[in-house]
Parts: sequence; C-alpha cells; structure tokens
Amino acid sequence: MTRTVYVNGQYLPETEATVSIFDRSFLMADGVYEVTSVLGGKLIDFEGHLKRLERSLTELGMEKPEAFDQLLDIHRELVRLNDIDEGMIYLQVSRGSAGDRDFVFPDPAVVKPTLVLFTQSKPGLANSPAAQKGIKVISIDDIRWGRRDIKTVQLLYPSMGKMMAKKAGCDDAWMVEDGMVTEGTSNNAYIVKDGKIITRQLSNDILHGITRAAVLRFAREAQMEVEERPFTIAEAQAADEAFITSASTFVFPVVEIDGTQLGSGTPGPVAKRLREIYLDESLKTAI
Ligand code: PMP
Repeated sequence: MTRTVYVNGQYLPETEATVSIFDRSFLMADGVYEVTSVLGGKLIDFEGHLKRLERSLTELGMEKPEAFDQLLDIHRELVRLNDIDEGMIYLQVSRGSAGDRDFVFPDPAVVKPTLVLFTQSKPGLANSPAAQKGIKVISIDDIRWGRRDIKTVQLLYPSMGKMMAKKAGCDDAWMVEDGMVTEGTSNNAYIVKDGKIITRQLSNDILHGITRAAVLRFAREAQMEVEERPFTIAEAQAADEAFITSASTFVFPVVEIDGTQLGSGTPGPVAKRLREIYLDESLKTAI
C-alpha cells in the first residue's frame, strides 16, 4: 500500500512527497523529531511528545512550524488515511531550506521550517516477541555530542551502535561515558536491584524519554522504589533485572549484557509488571 504522508501542509502519496536537497536536515542534521506510538488507532502519550518537540525547537532556536497547533489533527488524519491500528507516527521539523548551503542559520522570517510526518504500520507492536523473550545488549563508548536532551536527527552513531550490537548477535547497545551507562541507542536504560528501579537522572547527557517519565510515575504510584542515579555495566550485570523503555518498545526486558546473563536469563517480574501497567494506563489516556 502506498502511504499517505504529510509535507508542509499537504497530504500526499509517499511517492510524490518531496523536500529540497538544500533542506538543513539533509545537509546539517539541523532537525528534530518525535515518534509517537499508535495502539488501537489511538496516540499514546501524545501530549508528552508535543511538549518535548516544543522544547527541542526552543533549545535550537528553531521556529515552530506553522501547523504546530494542528499537530494532533494531522497525526489523527494520518492514522485514518493509512488505516493504522498498531504502529508509529514519525514527525520531523527542520530549519528549512534557504536554497543554498550555509553554516549560518537562515532568517526565520524568510525561511520557514520543514514539517514532515509519516506513519509506520507495525501490527503486533503491543505483543512483540522481544517483550516475552527479552533482549541482549552490548556496551559501547558514548561518543555523541553534549546535548543529548535535544531530540535531533543526528542518529548516525546510535545507528552504528545498533549495527555493532547486531554484529555481536545482540539487539541493542548501551552507551557508556566516564564508566557510567548513559542510555540505549534509542531507549532509556534501567536496572533493578532488591526491588529498587535504578535509572540515570535527567540531564543533558540523555534524552528525556516520554516513556521514561510515564513508567517512573506509574512505578512510584504502585509504591515501587525508584532511584535516579548513574550505574556501571558491572552493576547492571550483577542486577536482578534490567530493561529499556521507549515509545516504540514500551518496556522491553534485558536478559543479557556483554555476554553476561542477568539472573536466570529470562525476563524479570518488575519489567513485566511495568510493561503491563504502562500499556494499561497509557491506553486509558490514548487520544
Ligand atoms: N533515548 C534515546 C537516545 C532515544 O532515541 C529514545 C527514543 N527516541 C529514548 C531514549 C526514549 O524516548 P521515548 O520514551 O520518548 O521514546
């Protein structure tokens, strides 16, 4: 099926949608993005993603796209037009195209941001086999830039990290800086020890995951203990459980880190419970 996508005010078949070769996201990775999951045709955590998008734009001094206030309607229309039951909506805003290449930002009064959205249909998203089996991760150096809290489209190193994991027969990579885990290539990282959930505190070093915020809130509401601090790979390998969160995985248990099995090598009860709570609660507020 040919997808219908959204580009700068128009809904078009994907084969007819175009962006300039001078677009700054293409030439300079000067763009930000969001991924919102869809379950039962409804958007999960939409408000959170919209707020983070606004923050990313502000941090980079980028104008809001003209259609910013219509983003909910655009998401819903794309779900409808593409008949998405389970999947994701990808949204990207770039600083636009000044019709040439220049390091200097174009005048925002003249050059408008580029806004692109498209859907990704993923039947079975909520019942992914990885949620039952757990995933294996390797550790790699975190050599990304210093503003990981901004959700930019500079994804080359995370993409390379994913390939390094695949080459090692694993599913993902946890990045390590100064001996401490920052996050996964496209997810936040957690360990569980003696019932306590441990995850790195928010700073410029990690993306402020929307799923992270929700999962930690639900965990605290369920009287689970949460500690926000960095941890090492050795501490993770000695933990009772580990897991990741993101908009497209929700909660996936981690069963192996750098070749060391965690516990019995099967998904632990805390990750399973958090996944259930997250899916139940976020479906209640899906729009
Ligand atoms: N960290 C990184 C580096 C990511 O790319 C993502 C996913 N975009 C996350 C964490 C998880 O964020 P969210 O829960 O908002 O999807």
